[in-house]
Amino acid sequence: MQADNRQKILIADDERFNLNILVDILKSDYKISVAKNGKQALDRAMSLNPPDLILLDIQMPEMDGYEVCKTLKEDERTKDIPVIFITAMKEEAYEAKGFDIGAVDYITKPFSAPIVRARARAQLKMKWQADMLRQMACMDVLTEIPNRQKFEEIFDMEWKRAVREKTPLSVLLVDIDFFKQYNDSYGHGRGDKCLKEVAQTLANSIRRPADLVARYGGEEFIAVLPETDMPGAGAVAEIMRNNVELLQIPHARSVSLDYVTVSIGVASVAPVGGFSDAALVTVVATADEMLYKAKAAGRNQVQCR
Ligand code: GH3
Ligand code: MG
Ligand code: MG
Repeated sequence: MQADNRQKILIADDERFNLNILVDILKSDYKISVAKNGKQALDRAMSLNPPDLILLDIQMPEMDGYEVCKTLKEDERTKDIPVIFITAMKEEAYEAKGFDIGAVDYITKPFSAPIVRARARAQLKMKWQADMLRQMACMDVLTEIPNRQKFEEIFDMEWKRAVREKTPLSVLLVDIDFFKQYNDSYGHGRGDKCLKEVAQTLANSIRRPADLVARYGGEEFIAVLPETDMPGAGAVAEIMRNNVELLQIPHARSVSLDYVTVSIGVASVAPVGGFSDAALVTVVATADEMLYKAKAAGRNQVQCR
């Protein structure tokens, strides 16, 4: 089966009749999901498979469209989803309020099908472009894995989650062994190619959706493994180390092996009476200490604490 790459629109309206008309107008070009009230709209928007655009009725029982939009715009996970109000409320003040709250467009009922289609299309095009820019801003151009900035952002979020949910968290620092000699022997071009292969291999070595590997700088990589304790993180690190070795990238001047290898430092924090912010700083420093230990002990190995 072919993947459905169409963009997704969430339509929220408490009246089934309106809902059906909008679905009919848009269903041939987009994936559609519907919500019959404000609460449902929020749940769908905050799901793991969020929409690219929300068409939102204003007058709905319990939680109205304004409140839904306001909540969406205040939440990090949903603030970038464009919202178009579709409403019978024609007065200028209502429309102005809609824009104030963060909507990108305001369509009044009765609406024309081609105009709804055109205005949805315009917003979806901008959403696609904005997504591309956001994605590019957090990618490392050379290795095509997330960059350090992305790591900082995710690490901060996962740290807060670990504190809140009292779960362990681990950090891995990975550094290519004798990479200066690799560049000196094979040239910078081959060095770049090697960096990319190693980066991709590290990224392919993680399995859980919440795990992240990023380029930390130069020939150094960092991984955050939420909900993972020391033995678990050590096992992942060993898989990474082994996978890089299995690439068998020739490195004649490496002292550890005839191939490119990596050393890995692992640090874990367990929620014993909660974490402190100091632990946040020290977990990366500890991983660095362990990396140093792995280097000193002969490289191509994992050290944990
Ligand atoms: P060790 O085993 O102790 O880690 O030794 P090393 O030679 O790997 O470490 P060192 O820090 O001395 O050298 C890192 C090298 O990585 C030097 C630098 O030129 C190279 N490097 C860093 N970034 C890049 C890059 O983007 N492309 C290439 N080709 N090389 C890079
Ligand atoms: Mg190195
Ligand atoms: Mg280094």
